[in-house]
Amino acid sequence: MERTFIILKPSAVGRGLAGEVINRFERRGLFFAGLKMMQLSDAILEEHYAHLKNKPFFPMLKRAMQATPVIVGCIEGKDAVQVVRTMCGPTNCREAQPGTVRGDFGVSVEHNIIHASDSKENAVIEINRFFQPKELFDYKPVSINLIYGQDEMN
Ligand code: UDP
Ligand code: MG
Repeated sequence: MERTFIILKPSAVGRGLAGEVINRFERRGLFFAGLKMMQLSDAILEEHYAHLKNKPFFPMLKRAMQATPVIVGCIEGKDAVQVVRTMCGPTNCREAQPGTVRGDFGVSVEHNIIHASDSKENAVIEINRFFQPKELFDYKPVSINLIYGQDEMN
């Protein structure tokens, strides 16, 4: 099954919302192959947000991402990249629909609660950037046969 990568940002951890957000993914039938807390360094942020390094807001973004520790997760499920991005909503929380993580928990662009990989290729890169192989676990929830039909489990 597909894996994707998330960061519960300081706007989630520092506001005590991490459990609620994690719960949404679990409730949906997605499951965690890896989950840990860490403080993000300058180096890892410059790599992770390399596409934004020259933007004027980059120093503020970096400070926002370092305001508290974050929780990083590797989420598994069929089409996990697309399913998780859809659950998060668009970058600007003010444009996000109610029912999405950003639409339910935020009103900001900078403090937008969660990062989620935007493509299968980036998911692989980001999982490897933040997790060591031994921190990822191969298992299926016992309820897997009630989460997917037989023909969906590959
Ligand atoms: N961001 C910001 N100001 C902007 C655009 C983006 O602070 O004008 C932050 C925002 O927190 C966003 C992150 O930079 O989540 C990464 O931007 P990206 O365009 O990759 O958005 P995402 O993939 O997170 O929706
Ligand atoms: Mg992005």
